[in-house]
Amino acid sequence: MTTHITGCILTPQGWIRGSLAFNGRIIAIAGDDVPAPRDDDSLVLPGFIDLHVHGGGGADVMEGNGAIDTLARMHAGHGTTSLLATTMTAPRADIEHALADVGRAMRQRPSGAARVLGAHLEGPFISPGKLGAQPSFARVGTFEEVNALNALATIRVLTLAPEVSGHLDFIRLLKIAGIVPQIGHSNGTYEDGVAALHAGVGGFTHLFNAMSELHHRKPGMVGAALAHAEYAEIIPDLLHVHPGAIHAARRAIPKMYCVTDSTSGAGMPDGTYHLGSQTVTKCLGGVRLADGTLAGSVLTMDQAFRNLVSIGIPPRDAVRLVSTNPADYLGERERGRLQPGSHADIVIMSPDLQLTHTFVEGESIELAHA
Ligand SMILES: [Zn+2]
Repeated sequence: MTTHITGCILTPQGWIRGSLAFNGRIIAIAGDDVPAPRDDDSLVLPGFIDLHVHGGGGADVMEGNGAIDTLARMHAGHGTTSLLATTMTAPRADIEHALADVGRAMRQRPSGAARVLGAHLEGPFISPGKLGAQPSFARVGTFEEVNALNALATIRVLTLAPEVSGHLDFIRLLKIAGIVPQIGHSNGTYEDGVAALHAGVGGFTHLFNAMSELHHRKPGMVGAALAHAEYAEIIPDLLHVHPGAIHAARRAIPKMYCVTDSTSGAGMPDGTYHLGSQTVTKCLGGVRLADGTLAGSVLTMDQAFRNLVSIGIPPRDAVRLVSTNPADYLGERERGRLQPGSHADIVIMSPDLQLTHTFVEGESIELAHA
């Protein structure tokens, strides 16, 4: 069955006012080239891709037992068409429990849910000195542990601290295994960051947060990222980083992309939730540990897109940050752009940037009304 939608369609070549035909894949796009959408145009955009998701809709990846279905449905209702389920730093058995559920959802996408492209391991191979909101189960990475975990669900990204002894060799092994190593929760120096990039690190986890800061005589991991990275995550909830930091990073890092780092409270009322083994409180648009440390976010990707536009990033550029760049980071060439042959991962937004439709691989998704 072929579906036709109309609006101002963002293609890799630019905006086209016309129609898009799809089934599970995009069949054809027809219409007139236009320089920019009109004020009354609906925007037809590639679906959002979120490479750092802990939870949503009251469910946390670490719970296992079907939790992934709940959170992947909640995020699809906010325009996310594919995601990486992200585990916390935890004892090995707890991560195995979570990944068994992730693997199941990867093998058969639950109806109404975003596509789970794989897992993002946030730790446990991080710095005990830069835990952020991660519990204190940090340890030195071994390829034996990664192999066992990877057998349960494909690991696409692994956040680690490169300054830990032995981790440069570990980075090389991960890269050979097709897992993208990523710097995060790190107290390393600028030089540690440069060495890790040479060893094969692909990017940086929630740039600026939980990493050594930039001082002009001690540029830290932030300096290494701004000077040399092609890719890095950033959390655009406007709480984790100042809008000026987003603008600065976007000038420095060619293919920066946005993640939510969202937790189970995303898409839920204010209250108390779990993040892995920790208790967190959602209020005032953020989620924190009892001591006030930001503990992930309650951001959704449609709000991330609106936040980017609200700080002055044109919609066409914002789409790169929420869809095209994360697809490219994973080498997912059939996602993140609207062109014939790609998966029909599509969002439609009203002229005032409210989500009106989401399609995941052609399936129409019931939207959340938060
Ligand atoms: Zn996280």
